[in-house]
Formats: sequence, structure tokens, C-alpha cells
Amino acid sequence: MPSADFARVVDKELRSDEPLFADLQARHLIMADAATSTLAPLLSQYRTRKACIEHGPKLHIFVVSLRCHHTCAYCQVSRQPLGQSQFDLPGDAAAHAVERLFEWPARDLTVEFQGGEPLLHFERITSLVEAIEARNRHEGRNIRFVIASTLHDLTDDQLAFMRDHRFELSTSLDGPEWLHNANRPRPEKDSYRRTVEGIERGRKVLGEDAVSALTTLTRRSLEAPVEIIDEYRKLGFHSISLRPLSPYGFARKTETRNGYPIGDFLRFYAVALDHLLSVNRSGYFMEETYGRMLLGQLLTPFSHGYVDLRSPTGAGLGAIVYDYDGTVYPSDEARMLASMGDRSFALGRVDEPVTAWLKSPAMQRILAAGVAETLPTCADCAYVPLCGADPIDHFARQGDTIGHRPTSDFCRKQMGLFDLLLERWETGSGSDRQILESWAHRATRREAQPEVEAA
Ligand code: SF4
Repeated sequence: MPSADFARVVDKELRSDEPLFADLQARHLIMADAATSTLAPLLSQYRTRKACIEHGPKLHIFVVSLRCHHTCAYCQVSRQPLGQSQFDLPGDAAAHAVERLFEWPARDLTVEFQGGEPLLHFERITSLVEAIEARNRHEGRNIRFVIASTLHDLTDDQLAFMRDHRFELSTSLDGPEWLHNANRPRPEKDSYRRTVEGIERGRKVLGEDAVSALTTLTRRSLEAPVEIIDEYRKLGFHSISLRPLSPYGFARKTETRNGYPIGDFLRFYAVALDHLLSVNRSGYFMEETYGRMLLGQLLTPFSHGYVDLRSPTGAGLGAIVYDYDGTVYPSDEARMLASMGDRSFALGRVDEPVTAWLKSPAMQRILAAGVAETLPTCADCAYVPLCGADPIDHFARQGDTIGHRPTSDFCRKQMGLFDLLLERWETGSGSDRQILESWAHRATRREAQPEVEAA
């Protein structure tokens, strides 16, 4: 709408016989007469967009061990050496966690096993799966099991168990061999080979679609957008996730070595998006998952299931983390902050009822800063219906749960990506627009399943 028309609407100077009046009324942007107008369609749209808050957390992350054989410079958790079994989730805490899982009302539950490297404590995974399935015989929930793992040292017995219980695998692949090995070193320098072998073995036993991969972008990665995407294509992936380095855990300690300004990420993303569009134009479907979720928000009335980009926040409302020591967190980021010494976002202990966690000071603090529509700057932002609040991210970056959007990397990333995707959608060729729309509608189909994090 031209600014002059907009000003006339705001000043109530638009006449009811003008075509623009009818157009705005049809789009529920203005209301002529409260007695005859109905807000029902608008409310229905709003309810659809916010449906993800109706049933409580769907994503439940069980940290079965902090042990890991990697020494990644940007590790986001306090990984521990292989022999340290005191960093494994004990049986009594696991039993309490299963009780808590079923206190939540959601019909669809994703149970994600994380670490460290969760395969190093596989006997806890098997006992948890058996306990959850036994309990579920009379609960009747739809349960999806996921392991976030490097997939190194995956055994045939583990794969057979996963096949019998319909597991999905989520791994980390940072790009071509030179980049992956540099980002994720093992003493034997064979991290890439082991991951690729794990992907192939997982696909063979669990099915092609049961294995997904996420990318973590270090400063080194930003020089290789095309190579990273081509590597995913070479390995037969139809989805790639390009996420900037997070400000948590060891990633923050090594920020000066691996970190970069968010502007560098946005420049990288623009090149990556153009390459992805050309890959799709050549006939090979490949989507970028974060872009897919933002486009789904832009072009459909539905919400994605991504817990880091919701309003009200997904922390504690969309996800729960049961840590190896029995502490419960509202998100993986809160757990990472705790590993850095700040436990202020812990909701409580696994042997306390869910209602106690919801009343905890940590949850009150998160909720007070967790609705984007009420936050300074977001309240006036055109993108707020599509964006989210992330109080823990803002606390980690700016020392305050509300934060200051004009200087917030979270906000710069969101605005930059929304601007870029809208620009490509509006000015791109017909086929580019079709490709972006196909991503958006795919996001809608995936709404019921929360996005998972990789190791
Ligand atoms: S783009 Fe920034 S200001 Fe706008 S809603 Fe998102 S975080 Fe808030």
C-alpha cells in the first residue's frame, strides 16, 4: 500500500465506497462495523499460527552421557573424556524422566537422545526406550525416537535395535572432508570418513529418509558455501541446515578463533541461497531448513515446529531437556549456559513434578520475556508475526532476557534472512519463486514434528 493511502487509513479518512476499503476489509486489516463484522476467520488464522502452544512440549531431550571422543573447538556442551562414566545418566534419574515425560499432555512426543556422544551409553538408550514403550502401551501416544550422534563407532547391534524401534538419526556434517576434519577433529584425523560411513550404514538399515545432517558454520566454513552444498548433494541429501555458531558453551570460549560478525554469515547465506536455487533449477530438490521454516511462516498460515523461533518462546513450552545429572532445563541452550557456570535457567530436578518446574523462578523469567509481540522493538516490527522470542539466547548474548533488538545478533539474523528471502521471492524468476514456495509448503507438511538438534 502506498504511504499516502496508509496515512489515510490510519487517520480514518478512507471512504467506505473506495475499492481499497473493501480490499482491506476482506484481508481483515480494517473493520467497518463491529456489530456486523466477524473476526472469526482472523482468529482462526491466529489460532492456527499459535497452535504449537496448545499441547505443551513435544520435544524431549534425554542427555544420556557427556562423554565424547571428539575435541571440537566450538563444542557447545561440556564434553568429557571417554573413561568418565560419572557423566552418564544413571538408572534412577532415567526412570524419573520417563514418569515426567508422560505428565505432559502432548499426543505427539519426540524423544531425542543427545550427549556428548549418546552411542557411548547405548545401554541407557535401550533401557529408556523399553521403559517408554512399556508405559506407552496404555498411554497410546505417538512417539518418535531420534539420536543426535556423530555416528562414529555405530555397531550392527545398535542399528538393529534402532530399526526395530523405528529410530531416526541426526548427525553433523560440516562440509567436504578438509572442512569437516578441521572443524571436528579426532586424533586419528578420520572424522569425515567415519561420519560418511555412519550415514551410509544408517540409511541402509533405517531407510534413506531416516538420516539427516546439520552443519555448524565456523569462520573457515564461511569461505566455502558452494563446496558445503555440493558435498550434501554428492551424499544424496535433499535438505541442508546452515546455522551460525551459537554463543554457548565452549563455542563462546573459542569465539575469537571460530566466531564472526553476523553480517559475514548473512553474506555467506546469500551466496548459499543462490547456489541452492541453481541446484534446484537443475532438477535436484534441496532445501535449506531454516529458510524453509521462515518461508513457511511468510507464505502459509501454519507454524513450523522449531522451538528456537516461536512466540511465546519454545523454551519450556516446546522443549524440555533431562540432563545426565537429573537437572531439567527448558532448552539445550539453558543446559549449555549451565555448563558455563550459570544455572539460573534450570527448572528443577527430574524427581519433582512438572507443575513445580512451570512455577519455578526460571520459567517465570523466561515467560516474562518470551512473547515477541510485547517486547520493545519487536512490538513495532513488521516481521513479528513471523518471528520469535528467544530470551535465553538474548541473555547469553546480551546479559538480559529481553535484550536490545537494535544491537542483537538474533534480530539482525532474522531481519537479514527475512529481507533476503522476500527479495528473492519478489524479484526472482518464476522458477525461483516456485522453488521457494515448494520449501514453504514442505514446512507446512512437517509442522507436526519438531526440528531436532544435531550433536
Ligand atoms: S526481526 Fe527483530 S525486531 Fe523484528 S520481530 Fe524479529 S527479533 Fe523482533
